[in-house]
Amino acid sequence: MQTIDTAELQSGLEGLTLEALLERIARRFGGRVALASSLGAEDQVLTDVIAQASLPIAIFTIDTGRLPAQTHELLDATRERYGLVIEVLTPDSAELGAVLAERGSNFFRRSVEDRKLCCHVRKVLPLRRRLAGLEAWVTGLRREQSITRQDLPIVHWDEAHQLVKLNPLAGWSKDDVWQYIRQHRVPYNVLHDRGYPSIGCEPCTRAVEPGQDIRAGRWWWEQPEHRECGLHLAATGSQIHGSAP
Ligand code: SF4
Repeated sequence: MQTIDTAELQSGLEGLTLEALLERIARRFGGRVALASSLGAEDQVLTDVIAQASLPIAIFTIDTGRLPAQTHELLDATRERYGLVIEVLTPDSAELGAVLAERGSNFFRRSVEDRKLCCHVRKVLPLRRRLAGLEAWVTGLRREQSITRQDLPIVHWDEAHQLVKLNPLAGWSKDDVWQYIRQHRVPYNVLHDRGYPSIGCEPCTRAVEPGQDIRAGRWWWEQPEHRECGLHLAATGSQIHGSAP
C-alpha cells in the first residue's frame, strides 16, 4: 500500500538544481534512500554530487558476475576518487548455482526466456532484496533515453518494488550529462569512448555505430521490444530501459 505522497514530494523538487534536489531527498528520507548505480555516465554524475556534498544517500551496484573488466576498474577508481563505500550486491550463490548447473554458463543466448531468467537471477533478485529495506531509491534514468520514458517524472511511486523512485536526471540531456562529467572530471567507463553508450554484462553488450539507438548494443540478437532486464518496471507493468546493468 502506498504510504508516501509523491505528488507533494514532486512539487517540492521542481526547479531545484541537482545538488539541491539530492539534498532535499537526503533530508526527506534520511538513511532509507539509496542510489542504484550501474556505474554508467548518469550514475557517475549522481555519485559525484552525493560524494562532494557528503549526502547520506547509500550507493550500491550489482556485480552480476559477468561485468567487463573496465567496469570493475571504474568501480575501484570511483571508490578511490571519492573515498566512498560502494556496496556491491551479488546474486545468491545457491540460486545462481542451481540455474547454471541445469542450463550451463551461457544459457542466456538460447531464448528470450532464458536471457530474462539470467537477468532475473543475476540482477533483479539482488536489487529486489536490497530495495526491500528502503523507503526510496534513486536512479539515473532520463526522459530522452527512450520513447517509453518521455513522461518519466522526477518522483513516482514504484508499484513493482513498493517504494518511492526518484529520477533526478529525468530532464537532463545526454549533453548535460557529459558536460557535467567533463567539467567536474568525474571518472567514467572507458568503454563509453569506444562506442558503448549503454554498458551492462560483457557478453550482452557491444559498441554501436554513430547515430544508432543507444540500446542497440544490448542483447542485439533479440527483437527490440524484448531488450529489457526487468530492473525498471513502470507502474503500468510495462518495462522501461534501465541505467542499471
Ligand atoms: Fe545474464 Fe546477459 Fe542479463 Fe548479464 S545481461 S544477467 S549475462 S543475460
